Amino acid sequence: MSFRSYRERLYRLLSNDIGIDLGTANTLLTVRGFGVVINEPSVVALNEKTGQVVAIGSEAKQMLGRTPAHITAVRPLIDGVVSNFEVTEEMLSYFLNRVQKLSPKLIRPRLVVGVPSGITNVETRAVRDAAINAGAREVYIMEEPMAAAIGVGLPVRDPIGTMIIDIGGGTTDIAVISLGGIVRSKNLHIAGDRFNEDIIAYIRNEFKILIGDRTAENIKIVIGSVVPGEAPVEAEVRGRDLVTGLPREVIITDSDIREAISSSLATLIESVKEVLESTPPEVLSDVMARGIVLVGGGAVISGLADLLNEELSLPIHVAHDPMTAVVRGTGIVLEDMDTYQEMLLAQEEAFPPTE
Ligand code: ADP
Ligand code: MG
Repeated sequence: MSFRSYRERLYRLLSNDIGIDLGTANTLLTVRGFGVVINEPSVVALNEKTGQVVAIGSEAKQMLGRTPAHITAVRPLIDGVVSNFEVTEEMLSYFLNRVQKLSPKLIRPRLVVGVPSGITNVETRAVRDAAINAGAREVYIMEEPMAAAIGVGLPVRDPIGTMIIDIGGGTTDIAVISLGGIVRSKNLHIAGDRFNEDIIAYIRNEFKILIGDRTAENIKIVIGSVVPGEAPVEAEVRGRDLVTGLPREVIITDSDIREAISSSLATLIESVKEVLESTPPEVLSDVMARGIVLVGGGAVISGLADLLNEELSLPIHVAHDPMTAVVRGTGIVLEDMDTYQEMLLAQEEAFPPTE
């Protein structure tokens, strides 16, 4: 059945087409005709006594690490897959409801959902089931590096090798793409969250102060860099003195952050090298000429392109608006499902025989 059929045109009128980046840190939704309409943390706050959802998204993130005893704030996609099925479903249905309010349609929506590369069939099914239970009519799954590459305008369908690195919260996706397929890829659990953990551990060891996750993330964003700048940058950090148990403030510099994350960063760069080493020569020569595109929140850290350029001797480009690349890609796919059909995962299930 062609997507251009009468049925397809009817669906376009009567239901929303929604693209989703189900990220470990942030969930983004784009709606055909509207663009990106939701961009919120993938966090859900639950009341443990009643089992009820207290808050979702930004409101819930505010609560992380600050909740009273009976409320927990969870990140249902912590490792990039659905680790907490029911909560993912609640989160999805909340966001889908918001879209439905924005653009009310008669028929339930069709979704294109981005998932990390290398996701197993079981996990793919979990994502699909969560989306169906949350109110979707049809669900198409796409690997995030592919969606991101489409989102930043790489010629993914051409016989040209391109490479993309998506550094998110829970996972980093490294992928080489050519002719509409992922030629080589690697998915690792070293990304923004790990950097935060590194910073917490470093400050605990060096300054004997315990800081929270959000504090670590804030200093990373404010003063973090992977190569030294012209002048040192510092930030005041408040935490609990591990010896006295009382609050204490210390000054942290950008070089502290570099030292804290250096080992994780080295592992990440090593993984990129491994992917390059296993890439077929023709494709590799394209990548060497065209370079690598960086996307995801982790790509924003200052100096990363320079560092990678030095380590890999390849041109490195940070994408424009790197944190929306995946969701923009799903939006482009929704506009032209015929063209991208073969890049969607598990087609047999996604395209049930209808006529
Ligand atoms: P995901 O796709 O896993 O949801 P995102 O692409 O939204 O992740 O990126 C989230 C990660 O990016 C977080 O770990 C966050 O700390 C990090 N991040 C966001 N902005 C910056 C910045 N300016 N510098 C360093 N890290 C950043
Ligand atoms: Mg992501």
